[in-house]
Amino acid sequence: MTLAVRPNSTAARDVRSQLHPYTNPVAHEAQGPQIITRGDGVWVEDEDGKRYIEGLAGLWCTALGFSAEDRLARAAYDQMKALPFYHPFGHKAHVPGITLAERLLDMAPVPMSKVFFCSSGSEANDTALKLIRFYNNALGRPEKKKVISRVKAYHGVTLATASLTGLPFNHRDFDLPIPGVLHTTCPHHYRFAAPDETEEDFATRCADDLEAMIQAEGPDTIAAFFAEPVMGAGGVIVPPPTYFEKIQAVLRRHDILFVADEVICGFGRTGNPWGCQTFGLEPDMITVAKQMSSGYMPISALLLNEKIYAAVRDNAGRIGMLGHGYTYGGHPVSCAVALEALAIYAERDLFTHAATVGPHLQARLRTLADHPLVGEVRGVGLIAGVEIARDKANRQPFDPSQGAGLALGRFLHKHGVITRVIGETMAFSPPLIISMAEIDTMVDRVASALDDTLAWCR
Ligand code: PLP
Repeated sequence: MTLAVRPNSTAARDVRSQLHPYTNPVAHEAQGPQIITRGDGVWVEDEDGKRYIEGLAGLWCTALGFSAEDRLARAAYDQMKALPFYHPFGHKAHVPGITLAERLLDMAPVPMSKVFFCSSGSEANDTALKLIRFYNNALGRPEKKKVISRVKAYHGVTLATASLTGLPFNHRDFDLPIPGVLHTTCPHHYRFAAPDETEEDFATRCADDLEAMIQAEGPDTIAAFFAEPVMGAGGVIVPPPTYFEKIQAVLRRHDILFVADEVICGFGRTGNPWGCQTFGLEPDMITVAKQMSSGYMPISALLLNEKIYAAVRDNAGRIGMLGHGYTYGGHPVSCAVALEALAIYAERDLFTHAATVGPHLQARLRTLADHPLVGEVRGVGLIAGVEIARDKANRQPFDPSQGAGLALGRFLHKHGVITRVIGETMAFSPPLIISMAEIDTMVDRVASALDDTLAWCR
């Protein structure tokens, strides 16, 4: 990290030219960016030549890490040469798009009927929101339009998907959430359970809270419920046992659609190909992105079941067309790269590898639970969170003004680990290719960063 921006440096050019997402611009003007120049497996290197283990796979996306894969570069090159752009609007199609749609339908954890391509997770969730409205209008239920997500959910940043997102930074001074988006209880036992409330009792309470919200709003007004199998950007929150079973019973009782946001969990992250399989979800729609192309090209998709497709088809047929689509949705180069990435995952049996090394990550991180600063270690497969606490015994968090999360971030940087500290939780979601030895290296470095943070606190 460049601590002072040298005049005429690349960092100075950045400060002059870019507004950065999820960055404090005042701090950025003073300290400048950390410029990453190259990658190698699970490692990246910055312009000062310092190497970091990439504990978050970029933004939870580079399943294959950061080395240039000849096969993926070749897939992009060949598609660029053959057909650099085409689109699926107005009855057009291209072969990589058709093949990728077939592949996703084959892989889907529950029967799905159609795939709608977009370029980002936000666009895929926005498309889900729009089709949910379209579906209920098609069924003559104009009142059934509200959607429910959860406190600490992350579903994107467009006006509508940032509204679904349940995090204060995404709402504050953006005048969000928009009307018709509600947030129910976050299923984080450690933070939100009452003293002595078991995980299963807490899961029952979460489902009861959802039921109460639906009753208060009127069941005929609630169209859909959105959930990530494991909540990622909200701080890696793993639902307690029986949670989704109980939530899905409520949804079924009130004819509420269930959208599983697999943008992070999809493609092997939780120890199964899909988060839906890890937690027994039976959604009506699934959104995917990120690891679908190992993050190397922008591509996302919404998968919808036959019930929704049939209603959408009939209504759009009556209107004359489905008035929705993105110029870059299902870009042929992105489709070609995603297909090749999925082929590599299958050939290298990468999901099995992730399922094999995942328990090692979980076990090694749990050795940190004894550290005086660590409040909770949680996770499943190759996704995990380590939350620090000011008062471990009483689960008391640090006051944000103390800056403990920021200090921890600085010490992780010093020890050569890139991750995201969300509030006071370190998030881990390394490339799926990570080895046992690399997990050991990462966790050892995290332990050193915790020791430094403890010394800083005292
Ligand atoms: N859904 C989930 C679960 C995510 O984690 C993200 C991004 O991190 C999104 C949706 C939004 O995706 P994008 O940033 O590609 O719009």
